[in-house]
Amino acid sequence: MSLAASSKEQALRFSLESKQTKIVATIGPSSSDPEVLRAMIRAGMNVARINFSHGDHATHGSVINHIRRISAEEDSVVAILCDIQGPKIRLGMIEPEPMMLEIGDTIRLTSDVLVGSNGVVSLPHPEFLRDIEAGTTLLLDDGNLQFSVQEADGRNLVCEVVVGGALKARKGVSAPNARLTLSAITDKDRADIEFALAQDCDYMAMSFVRTADDIRELKTLMAELSKDAAIIAKIEMGEALENIEDIIAICDGIMVARGDLGIETPAEEVPYHQKRIIKLCNAAAKPVITATQMLESMTENPRPTRAEASDVYNAILDGTDAIMLSAESASGQYPVRAVEVMSEIAAIAERNLQNFSSSAAKTRPSASGGASLEDSSIAISRATFDISEVIKPKAIVTTSMSGYTTRRVAKERPGTPILSMTPVATTQRRMALVWGVTPLLVEEFTTIDEMISIIIRAAHDKGYVERGDRLVIIAGVPFGIDGRTNLIKIHVVGEEGEI
Ligand code: PEP
Repeated sequence: MSLAASSKEQALRFSLESKQTKIVATIGPSSSDPEVLRAMIRAGMNVARINFSHGDHATHGSVINHIRRISAEEDSVVAILCDIQGPKIRLGMIEPEPMMLEIGDTIRLTSDVLVGSNGVVSLPHPEFLRDIEAGTTLLLDDGNLQFSVQEADGRNLVCEVVVGGALKARKGVSAPNARLTLSAITDKDRADIEFALAQDCDYMAMSFVRTADDIRELKTLMAELSKDAAIIAKIEMGEALENIEDIIAICDGIMVARGDLGIETPAEEVPYHQKRIIKLCNAAAKPVITATQMLESMTENPRPTRAEASDVYNAILDGTDAIMLSAESASGQYPVRAVEVMSEIAAIAERNLQNFSSSAAKTRPSASGGASLEDSSIAISRATFDISEVIKPKAIVTTSMSGYTTRRVAKERPGTPILSMTPVATTQRRMALVWGVTPLLVEEFTTIDEMISIIIRAAHDKGYVERGDRLVIIAGVPFGIDGRTNLIKIHVVGEEGEI
């Protein structure tokens, strides 16, 4: 059998649409092989995450090329998300490894570049050392070790070991309660951002975001490079939680980065932050990804734990647009199976979304009661949901240049598939992250009649709709103006002679 899917198989896939929640899978050594990527796309991967904390540009470039080629062969839309490392603080080298530390031991962290031994370890981040004062708590190696800073002179931190263990080279260091003045974009990030933009990535994830100004800095850099990508802010710092509304307003999407968030804030609080962030993103109609340790045990086992299955299910009920695999797909033994398991859990959760959902449609923002473009978009999106509940159309069809109209409808979490039609290829790929949306690229149109004829023919040619199917079509006219949704039409396929 040919590995490329026939259009009949594709149509079948849509008509049997099994999941609306999007899957982001991190690509790494376990999944960079082209046939593994193909199997992951078939299993339901919608967004491929390239993690710039690991690997080199040559490897990332080759993976991106494979994904673009294979997704085209499979007639699937897969967005590329480049995740930039950000100002991650790491220890220098240690020899011999590990350095065993016990409670009460004294250890010195220094900006001097040296190979760590005998209670002295290099921390080659002068800006971080400058910000740390005596009394600060430091967490190392994902919180497995804890130090209390006794003395700080701007270049050295003399610490007492509070929680001991085996300290290894290059492990991460965080200071959850310190106010840090680190620049949001490091020299390494700058080179990675330039590379990712040159690859035309669809989404760029920014790590350790603290304020909306960090996102502005990335936007300015993109403008200087005359390039653009949608920006995902990774929420993993306590300071970002304080500024969450401003961050959501300025970025294009959010990742609840539970790994570092569970170090920077108590892990016990992570579920609360997850639910709050998802709710705020739903209200703002911005896509949100729930990330890290969703199916962690599947790095080694072919089946998830019950707690992991519940975690994925509950994130969907919370209203997440996307669920993410990290080590499970990047370095685990079962990358394809992990995507399949996520797809299966998603399908089950979505069948029960209306009964149990605590977020999404229930977090409808109130319109101002005026005649603003935003208000008419909110009204049309709600009406689309209500109409769909009554007439049960085959699909909701959105036409959108920027994706705004599509995101607004998706936030209502209708029980009907959303076909997002756009003449803009970038928008098509960005919609791969948005809950419930099947993105389709169409020719440009200028009049309403032309739009109807083009979108119905496109959906029909793909096998998504048949003569007599009912659709709810929404759009913003005149076309090409961002943030305007003002047209809604109940349409029966073929009734105006479009096919
Ligand atoms: C996280 O910390 O949860 C996360 C997604 O970031 P990274 O994998 O880059 O550490």
